[in-house]
Amino acid sequence: MTELLFNDDAYLKKTEAVITHVNQNSIQLDRTIFYAESGGQPGDQGEIRLSGQSYKVIDTQKGNSPYEIIHLIDGEIDQSIIGKKCELSIDWALRQSHMKMHTSCHILCSLIDALITGASVGAQKSRVDFDVDPALLDKEAMNQQIEEIIKSNLPVFTKQISGDEFRDNPHLAKGAAVSPPVINNKVQIVQIGDDKILDIQACGGTHVRSTGEIEGLEIGKIENKGKRNRRVNIRFKQ
Ligand SMILES: [Zn+2]
Repeated sequence: MTELLFNDDAYLKKTEAVITHVNQNSIQLDRTIFYAESGGQPGDQGEIRLSGQSYKVIDTQKGNSPYEIIHLIDGEIDQSIIGKKCELSIDWALRQSHMKMHTSCHILCSLIDALITGASVGAQKSRVDFDVDPALLDKEAMNQQIEEIIKSNLPVFTKQISGDEFRDNPHLAKGAAVSPPVINNKVQIVQIGDDKILDIQACGGTHVRSTGEIEGLEIGKIENKGKRNRRVNIRFKQ
């Protein structure tokens, strides 16, 4: 079992950990700052360093349980490192882009009152699929709203609620495709806005602390993926 440090602090760029398992091409740790791919957000990359050795993490994936985090390594791994202390560092530029983009997806969801059927977060662009009446999608109006939300620099919070509370509030699950699992009867809730709540939903990803950090975002193409399915693409403004 790996302690997931990014749930409490998504801004942690470096930390120490102990190596618990080693496979041919992967390392597991007692704690990690590496986010494992899920909910449409890619896994982190970075480095695991020991005295005299360094391993490049090329991807991070979940294992058989949400608490089993597999750090995929480029190259051979010395099996004798099990039990040793190491230093972790994530590719912060990449993670920060994912955090901005992931939070941007929440902003987009707040503008479209529809079920989310899929999402993919990238470092420069992302997409969210909605089961929606296409007549409701006004790109120009939404771009104006996005600009306003970023300018308002709204706070972004995460909190843990119980699995029972989650089940009693089905509106918090905006789409099966992006909902996080309930672990140990707990689920993470992400909220944008304080006095006036812009978006609130269950989500296990990593987010920025305020919408102003996104700086500039716009909707690109809106693709037709079926009668009621629309894929809305977003990208950072250059
Ligand atoms: Zn999220």
